[in-house]
Amino acid sequence: MTEALQHTTYQPVTRTSLSAIPQVERLDRSLRETIEVVSAVFPFRTNAYVVDHLIDWDKVPDDPIYQLTFPQRGMLSDTDYRTVASLIRRGAPAAELRATVNAIRLRHNPHPAGQLTHNVPELDGEPLPGLQHKYPETVLFFPSRGQTCHAYCSYCFRWAQFVGMPDLKFAAKEVDGLVRYLRVHPEVSDVLFTGGDPMIMKTRALREYIEPLLRPDLGHVQTIRIGTKALAYWPQRFVTDEDADDLLRLFEKIIRSGRHVAIMGHYSHPRELSTPVAQRAIARLRAIGCEIRMQAPIIRHVNDSARAWASLWRQGVKLGLVPYYMFVSRDTGPKNYFEVPLAESYTIFRKAYSQVSGLGRTVRGPVMSATPGKVLINGVTQIGGQRVFVLSFLQGRDPDWVKRPFFAHYDPAATWLFDLKPAFGAPEQFFDPDATYAPIWR
Ligand SMILES: *Cc1c(COP(=O)(O)O)cnc(C)c1O
Ligand code: SF4
Repeated sequence: MTEALQHTTYQPVTRTSLSAIPQVERLDRSLRETIEVVSAVFPFRTNAYVVDHLIDWDKVPDDPIYQLTFPQRGMLSDTDYRTVASLIRRGAPAAELRATVNAIRLRHNPHPAGQLTHNVPELDGEPLPGLQHKYPETVLFFPSRGQTCHAYCSYCFRWAQFVGMPDLKFAAKEVDGLVRYLRVHPEVSDVLFTGGDPMIMKTRALREYIEPLLRPDLGHVQTIRIGTKALAYWPQRFVTDEDADDLLRLFEKIIRSGRHVAIMGHYSHPRELSTPVAQRAIARLRAIGCEIRMQAPIIRHVNDSARAWASLWRQGVKLGLVPYYMFVSRDTGPKNYFEVPLAESYTIFRKAYSQVSGLGRTVRGPVMSATPGKVLINGVTQIGGQRVFVLSFLQGRDPDWVKRPFFAHYDPAATWLFDLKPAFGAPEQFFDPDATYAPIWR
């Protein structure tokens, strides 16, 4: 058995237990201070597998997985950093530190595109919390017990969600709402479990959510998708955790019911595919008939190079994965430090895409998951003397918007859809960028 497989217990590490990580103890003082100061503002969680097997400590702080998972100095402005650092240094009272930190957090928008409050569907006039239905075929389901992760990504905007776990009774009520909703929505073919990370749940809890979806009167639900980072941050979930075998049996049960299990694997960097336990997890899932697709945002300091993406897709295809999306990261909390402009993302995508076989070119990107829909940057070109971005919808709030090319002024500094101005003197784009939050297609 490899060393990686011996990590059978899950060990979250918080700021207070930082001294338990020998690799951190060996860092120089300023890096340790950075971890302490920045993690007072943004949530931080790691585990023994990430620390011992994914991070190359000889390359810290530049190491991509260290950048992905540990708090970074650039996540706070100089002023905020100095303020929090001095409060910590002089041992300020907890209440004073909390007030300062909360004020800083409020300035970092944690809910871009109204993630949690928009697109919440209703049934008999009652909103169904934990559900999101934006595109006809796919319902997103955020099980309340899956709202945390095996480690946290430093750029993640979902941190406002990372709070306590409600009990199983609440789960039963949630799934009851989901089932009733699906019964009257035959257009839904996919249910996507997301989070946080649904694979943080024990198999017993996950079963409570999944088994009710396998009823014969929900035959229109063809695919159960599971969005997860566990294949990268805690592949033991599928291999050596005590309920790993039960988990595979649960997935087998879905497949035997005639449905597809699509694991939407969040992979940020080829290193996440390199360990024996990560490869074993993939092999076990594939052996029972699950398909694994790979997706991730492009993040400065983590994967802002064509080499990283080409290698990720190449290694992925070799292990039987299907490259799916390269996302542009949204307006995240510690945004500026991690952001990559659209033009640069496109250049990186194109360069990586042109280096892989057709089997890797199933990937689409760079893609912005924005309020009006999923917008693809098809390219940058010159038309009638104007330099433009060529864009199109992969998913639209109105399905009629999909696959119609549209154009925007080329702006090398633009980082999001709302930075882009229509090209060729058009007063506006053909779609309504602020389209009402009530889904247009219903
Ligand atoms: C991406 C996404 C989906 C799924 O879209 P696919 O292109 O089918 O993968 C569904 N709902 C929302 C809100 C999404 O952002
Ligand atoms: S795994 Fe996903 S939800 Fe969890 S911290 Fe990373 S990006 Fe956020």
